[in-house]
Amino acid sequence: MKLPIIQSPQLVKQTEIALAYALFQRERHGKRLEQVVLAPENKRGYLGVSSISTPPCVLYYSLTNEPKEETDLPSRFGFDTGHILEGYVLDLLQAEERQGELSWPYLLAPSGVIKGHFDGRTKNLMQDGACIIEVKATGGYSFNKKIEEGADNGHIEQAFVYAVGSSSPYFVIIYCNREAKKSTPFYAVFGFHIPDMIAAKKAVQDLFAERFDPVLLSLHHELRPDQPEKPRWEFGPRGWRCRPDSSYFTKGGKENFTVGYCSYRGTCPEGLAYREIEEERKVAAA
Ligand code: SF4
Repeated sequence: MKLPIIQSPQLVKQTEIALAYALFQRERHGKRLEQVVLAPENKRGYLGVSSISTPPCVLYYSLTNEPKEETDLPSRFGFDTGHILEGYVLDLLQAEERQGELSWPYLLAPSGVIKGHFDGRTKNLMQDGACIIEVKATGGYSFNKKIEEGADNGHIEQAFVYAVGSSSPYFVIIYCNREAKKSTPFYAVFGFHIPDMIAAKKAVQDLFAERFDPVLLSLHHELRPDQPEKPRWEFGPRGWRCRPDSSYFTKGGKENFTVGYCSYRGTCPEGLAYREIEEERKVAAA
């Protein structure tokens, strides 16, 4: 769905100036960063805004507490460095609020509520209103794609919901390049303005209904939602649908041929079927 937002070059400029100034100060005088808090991985007992672009099948498994693939140490390191980068950028921008919790009463949701936690919020950047700051750490390939194609739609929706929920007329998404080297950019900034808060509040409700209602209703029937015929572009530039296609299988030395990008691939019938198909292909090709 089309969100009632417009790009804000002014916010992008203000954010870039603030980051450049903080980094210049850091070069000159050093910089003492706030302590980064790395919270333990707790099971969520609620429906979170960050699931707004989660595939319906994955969200269903998550809400029914199906066993998930364990987070291995390299992935844990990836999450932790993401949190550290988040703290780093929020410190540079001197965000006054961090990890603020927002909630929306929602009849269908477990416990009757949808919750969300924004990374940061500041009144320093724009003179006419507060701004939500979302920081996303990415690898070099994905970072370059963002520069070419713009911010991920799921990230825009998530930050939009936080901005509306916290009555902030601006939101900025900052991608940090984990693989930045000499002469490669370290961050990319995408800024947005919400000109009409009443229209935006309605858009949030429509977004919740579009993304969550089919899954929440399917919980009552104990029937997992199917993948749609065609993957929807809103779920990311690559779509989200699993296919018996090697591009969706994990690579990097893992010989288990499981479907990539899904923690339920070990439980989900499609995930298991794809693994079998790929194994058969491998045997046929040998
Ligand atoms: S493996 Fe594929 S079909 Fe199964 S839950 Fe994950 S994304 Fe959905």
